Parts: sequence; C-alpha cells; structure tokens
Amino acid sequence: MDNLHALLPYAAKRNFSNTPEPGIDGPVDSQRAALGAGQLGFVVQKHWASHLHYDFRLELHGTMKSWAVPKGPSLDPKDKRMAVQVEDHPLSYASFEGTIPPKQYGAGKIIVWDRGVWQPIGDPDAGYQAGNLKFELRGHKLHGKWALIRIKGKNKSDKQAPWLLIKEKDSFAQPASAFNVTDALPDSVMDKTPPGRVKARPLASGTSLALPPKLAGSKKSTLPATLAPQLATLAQGVPDHPIEWIFEVKFDGYRMLTRVDGESRGRADKGVSGRGAKDIRLITRNGNDWTSKLASLRQAIASLKLPSGWYDGEIVVPNKKGVPDFGALQACFESGRTDNIVLYLFDVPYFNGYDLRACPLEDRRALLKQLLETAHSDSVAERVRFSEAFNADPRSLIASACKMGL
Ligand code: MN
Repeated sequence: MDNLHALLPYAAKRNFSNTPEPGIDGPVDSQRAALGAGQLGFVVQKHWASHLHYDFRLELHGTMKSWAVPKGPSLDPKDKRMAVQVEDHPLSYASFEGTIPPKQYGAGKIIVWDRGVWQPIGDPDAGYQAGNLKFELRGHKLHGKWALIRIKGKNKSDKQAPWLLIKEKDSFAQPASAFNVTDALPDSVMDKTPPGRVKARPLASGTSLALPPKLAGSKKSTLPATLAPQLATLAQGVPDHPIEWIFEVKFDGYRMLTRVDGESRGRADKGVSGRGAKDIRLITRNGNDWTSKLASLRQAIASLKLPSGWYDGEIVVPNKKGVPDFGALQACFESGRTDNIVLYLFDVPYFNGYDLRACPLEDRRALLKQLLETAHSDSVAERVRFSEAFNADPRSLIASACKMGL
C-alpha cells in the first residue's frame, strides 16, 4: 500500500488499543465511498485538546494532508489563519468523532465540524510542493475559493511547517465583523446529508453558446412576446432532502425579466434601419415594460451581446455591505436615478430559439452562468450578475442569511 509509508508517523504517535481513532489499515468508510472516484474529500475537525483548535484535512493521494488551525477558518480574506502542518491522517479519519482518552496523543473530544469535497485549482501536487495550494471547497459551512500558503519555518528541518489558511475573495467571502463562521456554526455536521455529490452537470459536449443548446428537454420555439414569471410557493419548512434542492439568495428587489430578441426591430421597415440590432426589453412581474426607466441597465445588458431569449432575474440596489436595500431601490425610481441598480439573473427559460422550461433547472443555470462568464467585462459584471447557488445545509444557510441581514 503506497499510503502506508505516509501514514507511519500517524501510527507511531498512537496506541490503537487505547484510542478510538481509526488505524491505518482499516476499511474505507462509507462517507468516503459515497464521494466516488474522481472526487476528493475534505474535513475540518474541531478538537478540544489541551487547546481548542480545528484540524483541516484535504485528501490527496490516498491520505488526508493535515493542518492544525488554532483559530479555525475565517470567511474574511483579511484573516490569515496560522495552519501548522501535522502528520498525514488516514482517509477514514474524515468521519471520526469521539473522545481520545487522557494521556493519549491529542487527548480530548473531536467532532466533524465541516466536511465535503475539495477541488484543486491547478495542479495540486505542484501547489503542495511549492507551498501554494489553491482550491475550492464545497462543504456545509465552507465554500468557494481558499488558499494554503506555506511560510518559511525557522529552519528547514522544521517538520511542523507553518502555513496560512486564507479565504480568497469571492461571493462566499464575508467580513469577520459581519459573520464569524466558527462562532455562528459551532456544531457537528455528521448528521447532515453530505454535500459534494451535487454537481452542476456540465453542458453537453459540443454545446456552443452561439448555437442552440443541446439540453435534454429543450424544444424548438419562437420567442414568445410575453412570459409570466414562475412564482414562489410557500413551503412548510426546510427541505427534508437538501441534496435535491438548489439554494439561492432571495433578493429584496423587483422581479425583472429581460427579453432579448435577436430579430432586428427595423425588419418591418424592410431592413432599412437597425438591422442586426437586438431589441432588449425589461419587463416586470406583471408584464409592464420598464425598459425606458432602466436605460443604463438596458445598455449594460446590450453590451453583453446575449443571444435572444428570456432571462429571469431580480433588480436590487446593494447597500455598503452588499445586501439589497429595498428602500434604496424604491428611491431610485422616485428620483429617476437608476444608475446603481444591479440585475441578478437566476434563470433562462427561453434561449436562442429553444424553450428550455422543461429542462432541469441546474442545466439552465449552468448555461446562464457560462454565458455571463463568457460575456462579461468588469464594468458590466457590476451591473449584471449571476445569482450563485449555495451548496450547504439549509438550516445553516438560514442562520447565515439572518446574520447578514438578508
Ligand atoms: Mn488536532
């Protein structure tokens, strides 16, 4: 077994007749098996040893690379959390919870504080060797982009090499003043459906954005002149099977559908004027045309050169913390100054000559996300944004939303 050598330091520190921790030749646990091939697990264990700390572990080549993080992870990119590398742990450690008895190595209680899958950004071996490991996490509590950066130890033989665990800037980052993830979400996630198996299916190969999408369930269709938006329905509680759901922010703004018609407006005038120009209209939930009220937003959308279709979203005005401010949105229309209105797009029911409403939502959203990433320039990205999904336990999402004032 290749990993055996890597796990010798782990075994040497422990007496397995005195600790409930897994040995190095135990069976692969069911949680790891459920991830399947091609996915890498991560776990963060909260460990009440002589000092409370968080053990951050990433699966690589059959073992869990491990770091002890005294303060635990922070969602604030300004926080650089000391992470002391410790010995590799066996994969089965990722679902270990229990109490290591007194006098044993690491004596104290351990819970699985978060777990899920991680995805390296770039070559993980090169990154690990260079002490510059970038990756994405999909857990219950930790999401988005992270980095582990090795800082020079006092001497080269320093085996407990210090690294820094840093949240990278993205939509999952939050200022420490607004949200402290270790304080807000202190408990074990062992009883929750493990995240990770939910993965947006990639677009069918050969799908080109300029061509009709080959999405299962799509059917050829002319672009309807009007479209009633799908409305929310009241639920009795959070879903019992979160793995079958997609979670997005409920934006506090106005529902706004964008109709992009690839046909020239001047066609009726025998193509004399505006040939090739796209007719872009912004339509409210009740079917009112607000295009003229939202002139600069219309212009931003035009610069994206989106294919014809209906794009569903919500207009908001974010406050300084990035949280939608409904009062500020109303004030925009009262004053007629609508230049700071932002459009969050979350769905694309019609696209490029096809009715996509019978396609799986995750396929439509994958298409929309790809469209926006392809089309975006930085200035437009501020005005027209993709409404990201949060792959997390719904209860912890609600807790986070409350903390942020959403
Ligand atoms: Mn520990």
